[in-house]
Amino acid sequence: MKKIIISMAVLTLLFTSCNEDKTQELQEEQSKIDMSDFYLYTDADIDENNRIAEGKGSCYTMVNLNRQLNKDPKLAKKMFDIEYNTRNLISAKGKPAGTGGGNNGGGDTTPIDDGLGIINIPVYVHVIYSNSNENISNAQVASQISVLNADFRKTNSDASQVPTEFADDITDSEIEFTLAGTFRHSNSNSSWGTNDAVKAAYPPVTPQTHLNIWVCNIGGGILGYAQFPGGNSNTDGVVIGTEYFGNTGYVSAPFDKGRTGTHEVGHYLNLRHIWGDGRCKQDDFVADTPSSDAPNYGCPSYPTVNCKSNDMTMNYMDYTNDDCMYMFSDGQRNRMRAIFAAGGSRASLAGN
Ligand SMILES: [Zn+2]
Repeated sequence: MKKIIISMAVLTLLFTSCNEDKTQELQEEQSKIDMSDFYLYTDADIDENNRIAEGKGSCYTMVNLNRQLNKDPKLAKKMFDIEYNTRNLISAKGKPAGTGGGNNGGGDTTPIDDGLGIINIPVYVHVIYSNSNENISNAQVASQISVLNADFRKTNSDASQVPTEFADDITDSEIEFTLAGTFRHSNSNSSWGTNDAVKAAYPPVTPQTHLNIWVCNIGGGILGYAQFPGGNSNTDGVVIGTEYFGNTGYVSAPFDKGRTGTHEVGHYLNLRHIWGDGRCKQDDFVADTPSSDAPNYGCPSYPTVNCKSNDMTMNYMDYTNDDCMYMFSDGQRNRMRAIFAAGGSRASLAGN
């Protein structure tokens, strides 16, 4: 139903254009971009709660998205537009064109030369603690920034473990991160949940130009959650459980290598989960990540077959252990960088 409403909104926009030529131009443009597989709402509320009940680690980004979509009736249109612009940019500059590739089980994607060069994102870290363990060291904060830089630049030491099948897909996203400041807040609240209470207590600092990361105890076995591009600037950023932040100091195995940060920042830069939060036919809008029907856990052996193809279990956007995820793909790189193009939803973050 949501899809139909969005389509009608787009049609209304087309037909109310006062300029006939412009209307035709828009219609031609529209016909080039296939948005038929786009989705926003998922069954994450049910799925993630089931995973937690099974004692598995969980990311609450898609649950958070459901909540925000319910709260803000304009968010769906904003995210549709961002997706449309992303696909338009990728199809205009690279191959394969159009959507993320549907359900074709992957395939090669070329990194697009978008002319943006290396993108540097300044980061504010908010450390909220109720005990001395949670008041993590500057070294632990620095370690998370180092992991982000290694993973997004493909200088991570475990990149060499990528199987031959995906060797052409592993990417250097040419996105870097610089710590701009750390804010520390003592608070007797020992569990912050996922309803953005921590952001209300400690609002983001200049979220238009800085990535804000809140480090606090979330509770409930939840590793972290992020806000996608298009969301309210008052809640923009990433929340990471203290024990899953960075790779030194107060960290807990098997999520002690800083990859929760990499995963959540991936969402913040518009990446979906590798399995598309649905079954085989629901995609992550990326052509070179094979379809899967559910997250993988632990440290799967290769090959792990789902949806008639080998899962990219070592992708940062899966749910595998920190030690067992070590790549983004070229298609994910193109998708992340599209939001930094002039007029893009996170362009101001890169000074564009
Ligand atoms: Zn996630």
